[in-house]
Amino acid sequence: MSPSGEHEFDAVVVGGGLAGIAATQRLAERGLRVALVEKRDRLGGSSAMSGGWFALADTAVQHRAGVADSGEVFFADMVDTGGGFADEALLRALVAHQSSAIAAIERAAAWTDELKVSAGMTVARAHLVRIGALLAHLQAGAVDGGAAIICGCAAEELVWDGSRVVGVRTAAGVLGAPSGVALTSGGFSRSRELLDLFVPDQASAMPYGGVGNTGDGIRMAWMLGAGLADIGHVTGTYGQHAEATDDEHELLTANYLGAILVNAHGDRFADESESYKVLGAAVLAQPGGAGFQVFDSVVRARSRPGVPLSDMDRIEELGHLVSAPTIEALGRELGFSRGALERTVAQYNDVVAGRCDDPFGRTGLVNGVGALVPVETGPFYAYAAVTAMTSTYGGLGVAPDTVVRRVDGSPIAGLHAAGEVVGGFHGASYMTGTALTKALVFGYRAADAIADS
Ligand SMILES: Cc1cc2nc3c(=O)[nH]c(=O)nc-3n(C[C@H](O)[C@H](O)[C@H](O)COP(=O)(O)OP(=O)(O)OC[C@H]3O[C@@H](n4cnc5c(N)ncnc54)[C@H](O)[C@@H]3O)c2cc1C
Repeated sequence: MSPSGEHEFDAVVVGGGLAGIAATQRLAERGLRVALVEKRDRLGGSSAMSGGWFALADTAVQHRAGVADSGEVFFADMVDTGGGFADEALLRALVAHQSSAIAAIERAAAWTDELKVSAGMTVARAHLVRIGALLAHLQAGAVDGGAAIICGCAAEELVWDGSRVVGVRTAAGVLGAPSGVALTSGGFSRSRELLDLFVPDQASAMPYGGVGNTGDGIRMAWMLGAGLADIGHVTGTYGQHAEATDDEHELLTANYLGAILVNAHGDRFADESESYKVLGAAVLAQPGGAGFQVFDSVVRARSRPGVPLSDMDRIEELGHLVSAPTIEALGRELGFSRGALERTVAQYNDVVAGRCDDPFGRTGLVNGVGALVPVETGPFYAYAAVTAMTSTYGGLGVAPDTVVRRVDGSPIAGLHAAGEVVGGFHGASYMTGTALTKALVFGYRAADAIADS
């Protein structure tokens, strides 16, 4: 690298996850001289660690599976999930441009046929995509287009010329970007300082996500007066084993397949069909911050090997699934007080049988969809999981064209942002797959906005 002149590049992209790689590929394709700087020694960020679920509507995968969905239903579900806090203009733009994500996945031949209803959805809209293949395809496109990909190089400051952002300062010098800078530096799940500042009640969640995701983009844009959105709604994600490593997440949501959740006293404490973000906050408030997914062999048989969030086989292989022939024995294994788990399961089975209403309001497997099943056929299983800060869904305030907004709503010329560094899409809760979809759609949008400027 020779980060010398202010005009060495036309555009600079900060952060090499899905949003950044997509933006870089598109900028190169549009004929701009572009540099992607990544502070870690390799690209990927949280995107490479992710489950690969994308929320998309009206796809060929859905058509083949006979699922009726549309942009309008997708939009309505996201508005509902956000509890009135998400920015509807951003959600409209997401739906209007989701076709760019579908086309990119198509070009990368990264589709699978896995499709499911997940958090925040009223129909099966979570598409499992081979995320590694997608990232590799985008990266190859960026390199072929002549982009400079510079790893081990952290952006430290945005260069402001008095009227617009014109470059990025790194330890090695300034990278000039007269056409614009795209901040795609991910969230702040690895910054205890920012978690303590914005959401202190969530700060004890297990740190997870890309190791480089320390909120640098938020801090840099803040220096120029950027506003924030959704930041107080950031919550951890429930379902991770406390011993999971960075190399392999162990997120399991057997509750969406029929399991109940109990705390260390063996008591239920929530509607298990809620978003795993809502459950994340609920579990953090339980004794020891632990939530046990308890299920029977009927639910165990619903495991989908190789499918993130539904793969009980892998959890068992890792030695993290507890099993016992009876509920009583399972309660003993888990160290619960005598009789506690039996009582909880009996009460829940009464709810499923329609003998009483659920005190927590559970009426379906996930987001109210899917018939409840009793916990009654041995052997029985438990998975002890905690809340992990996988991703932080609040961040910089942006307009639908990806320009970063100041606190007063005015645009910061030359500064674009996309992906997890941005807030406004999720509001109070989270629909599975919208983080990756928004990273890809708005990575492209940022590139197009820069190229068109
Ligand atoms: C275990 C796990 C599972 C997940 N599963 C899903 C899922 O199935 N579906 C879904 O929608 N979402 C999922 N998510 C969330 C989703 O992966 C992220 O929100 C998304 O990948 C963010 O993409 P991004 O490009 O914005 O950021 P990232 O992919 O995190 O990339 C940001 C990059 O910027 C770099 N960077 C940071 N600061 C600087 C700097 N100063 N200079 C240069 N580079 C910098 C980082 O090192 C990183 O490489 C999951 C997250 C995790 C952790």
